[in-house]
Amino acid sequence: MAKVKTQKLKKFRTIEKAPAYEGYVPGHRTCQGCGPALCYRLVAKAAGPETIFVGPTGCMYVANTSYTCGPFAVPWTHAQITNGGAIGSGIEAAYQVLIRKGKYDGPLPNVIVMAGDGGTVDIGLQAMSAMMYRNHDALFVCYDNESYANTGIQTSPTTPYGAATTFTPPGPMVPEGKKLYPKDACQLVIGGHPAVKYVATASVAYPVDLMNKVIKALNYKGPTFLNIHCPCPKGWKFDADKLVQVGKMAIETGMWTLYEWEGGEYTYQREPEEILGVNEYLKLQGRFSHLTQEHIANQQAFIDAKLKAPGIAVELPTASSEPEM
Ligand code: SF4
Ligand code: MG
Repeated sequence: MAKVKTQKLKKFRTIEKAPAYEGYVPGHRTCQGCGPALCYRLVAKAAGPETIFVGPTGCMYVANTSYTCGPFAVPWTHAQITNGGAIGSGIEAAYQVLIRKGKYDGPLPNVIVMAGDGGTVDIGLQAMSAMMYRNHDALFVCYDNESYANTGIQTSPTTPYGAATTFTPPGPMVPEGKKLYPKDACQLVIGGHPAVKYVATASVAYPVDLMNKVIKALNYKGPTFLNIHCPCPKGWKFDADKLVQVGKMAIETGMWTLYEWEGGEYTYQREPEEILGVNEYLKLQGRFSHLTQEHIANQQAFIDAKLKAPGIAVELPTASSEPEM
């Protein structure tokens, strides 16, 4: 077998030390303040030029590629929303065959599937799961904007309880909008895929943490998974300049947590001493503006239980202590 150079990407401490390289450049048509577009830029920056992206259908395919143009400075291919994991697996396996036959001497590219939540834990679940299961040396990133955004903001399995979407409009029969609680992508991957080396959550509001997690994931040999919180101003109904504020408030209220899982152990990157009530997050977004005190208490109870599960030692707000919307 040919000896192939493997990439060793370097972590960094501050945004000033981030790579100057840009792999996701101007020329796309995403909305102003788009969380997934910022996510793409940060992932591409961290991964560097020796990278291949697979883009299953979603906003980051539809709004990024039009009339044979795209903002990718590295090889990128579209996949169906069902099969991002299969295409990523195939590309990685093809490189392994070329290496085995002595027809490629590297460096081995980073193979990254960039899928939305629908392409990860709903329509794309089987292919993502297969890629994680079969020990491919590749990274699967879920840019989680909690909806099927490119087709008009329909509900997905990661849409939070109580969110208004075009498929879950609040009304007399279902006043809270979405009645179901969201799927947990990372727990699905951790719980069911023994070959997986590294799983982490991240947020576009914390870019240094996000990029270092990309670097760490890519430096592993084997399947790795990142779930990245990507607020969507259009679908979540907030002003474009509030992207970072909404992202940070998700962490402050426990609606999103930042953690890594490796070797069976969890570490938390931000374990606040005090968690704010979920309403501080909900009230920033029009998709929750119809919620009553009862619905907010339901949301609080769900988040309290979720935070207690991995054992974060923090005083939680009570479900009934919410301020008025
Ligand atoms: Fe980005 Fe949301 Fe607009 Fe899609 S709908 S391009 S995810 S802001
Ligand atoms: Mg989505």
